[in-house]
Amino acid sequence: MNNELSKNEAKQILTSDLNTYLDLIKQINQNKTNNKITFSKNIFLPLTHICQNNCGYCTFKQEVDETKKLVMEEKEIFTQIQNAKKQGCTEALFAFGESADKNENVMEKLNNIGFESMVDYVYYLSDKILTQYEILPHTNMGIISKNELTYLSTVNASMGLMLETTNKQLMKTIVHKDSPGKDPEKRLKFIKNAGKEKIPFTTGLLVGIGETIEDRVDSLFEIRKLHDKYNHIQEIIIQNFKTKENIPMKDYPEPSVIELLKLTILASKMFPDVSIQIPPNLNQDLLLFFIMCGADDFGGISPITQDYINPETDWPAIRELEKNINSINYTLKERLPVYDKYINKTYLKEKVYEKTIKLQKRIN
Ligand code: SF4
Repeated sequence: MNNELSKNEAKQILTSDLNTYLDLIKQINQNKTNNKITFSKNIFLPLTHICQNNCGYCTFKQEVDETKKLVMEEKEIFTQIQNAKKQGCTEALFAFGESADKNENVMEKLNNIGFESMVDYVYYLSDKILTQYEILPHTNMGIISKNELTYLSTVNASMGLMLETTNKQLMKTIVHKDSPGKDPEKRLKFIKNAGKEKIPFTTGLLVGIGETIEDRVDSLFEIRKLHDKYNHIQEIIIQNFKTKENIPMKDYPEPSVIELLKLTILASKMFPDVSIQIPPNLNQDLLLFFIMCGADDFGGISPITQDYINPETDWPAIRELEKNINSINYTLKERLPVYDKYINKTYLKEKVYEKTIKLQKRIN
């Protein structure tokens, strides 16, 4: 399925000269079967900013502080969900710190509102959203057990976890030295468990955190291996590291545009059956170039909530985005948090399937 590229050939793609790239770009565009770029209209619900990890690039994590909320409460969540409904959002994205409930203050808070764990709380919220609204939950809460994955898959349309990189050495550097959950082996095991459970899955690479070209190739090959076995990867995000004030990695250089474009070309060659996603708020001026290199999805775009992971960059307005891509004869197409090819009873549990079918009719 990966055009039978060897690792060496893949590495050559990341190190070729301009003429080779132009040829590859031409091939990618000649082989395209449609000119649609997809996105999902979502609401981002960061249930907690507490996290067991301390990644060198993070501005999302917060320490326990009496002045701040430990966990978003149900009332606030459903006020926002009402708003999302008015705006026509179809995805409720739960993305938040990993193993937050290992923190005793978080656990106490959860117990006070009637829950035994974050998984327990996410299940309750997802089930309520699924039952009462035309909105589908998608959860990315870091590593959880296989049983917990199974449990959440009964009320989630899809789930996600960034692989980031397979480079184990970063576990000893400023990047991930205090982030046990970023161990590549644990993350690959998690993605494998999602495959065993037939959960439509989103993963991706974080580019520019100290990984080498070989690591980028290796990361894509590991994802490919899991997808060949379980056929559950619906999209691969190519996310660029952004430098920010007040992060331990503030002096790290950002990856160059050329590196990102090359990686997009390689990913689209290796994954003709998977969407390649570029976060539009991180690359606003360059989106057309990424599309030419094979990107075909912009991920979740929220009309109401910010990108809490990169709060300094706003989502582009959907109309502007549309105008932009129309200029190269592409069209913008709304999709659900689960891709069409996974909308069946093999991949979606009964309750999720019923709601997804209804929503699919609405947006098509
Ligand atoms: S796992 Fe996510 S929230 Fe936690 S420290 Fe790392 S980047 Fe921040």
